[in-house]
Amino acid sequence: MTPLGGLQLADDQRVLLAALCCLPLLEFGEAGLRGWSQLLVYPDAFRVRRSHVDAAGVLHEWDDELIGEAWDHGPLILSWADVQADIAEPDAGYCVAVHEMAHKLDALDGELDGTPPLPSRWQRGWARDFQRAYDAFCTRVDAGGETAIDPYAAEAPEEFFAVATEYHFSAPWLLEQEMPEVAAHLARFYGPSPFHPPV
Ligand SMILES: [Zn+2]
Repeated sequence: MTPLGGLQLADDQRVLLAALCCLPLLEFGEAGLRGWSQLLVYPDAFRVRRSHVDAAGVLHEWDDELIGEAWDHGPLILSWADVQADIAEPDAGYCVAVHEMAHKLDALDGELDGTPPLPSRWQRGWARDFQRAYDAFCTRVDAGGETAIDPYAAEAPEEFFAVATEYHFSAPWLLEQEMPEVAAHLARFYGPSPFHPPV
């Protein structure tokens, strides 16, 4: 765990970060940490340089400001200010640490596509239910309607899974109300949300 940009983390803050990142692994297990070993923590949102060569061969470069990032086979990166904001308001539907961990789990099968490694029968049901919910959500966002779920989920199937993961851990009642099939898959994959009272 490496603080950057002059940030210092006390032992209890490190434990808190580790606990947040491991929340999505309670059911899946430590195999979810395969292929990487470093958590980088910036004091606040951080800038990354992006570039893309278009079909005409023209190089485009721009800056992105991020609060978290998960590299393929590389570190997981978080903004400490945003982690603290999530902790201050734990039921707001946002949690950047579990969002980035969802990307790590998603990428374990070699493809970032919104589907983590699952037994094949479950994977078929997951793909069907997530696709249906994603398509319906994108239609609502494209039509300019208000959505109870963060419209960033319409960005791509992998973002849909990561954003839904945030709601599972931060506002599960909202996810159940808006997307019951997705909520049921996530409750099975991650275990019951910590927000649900024990039965
Ligand atoms: Zn994401």
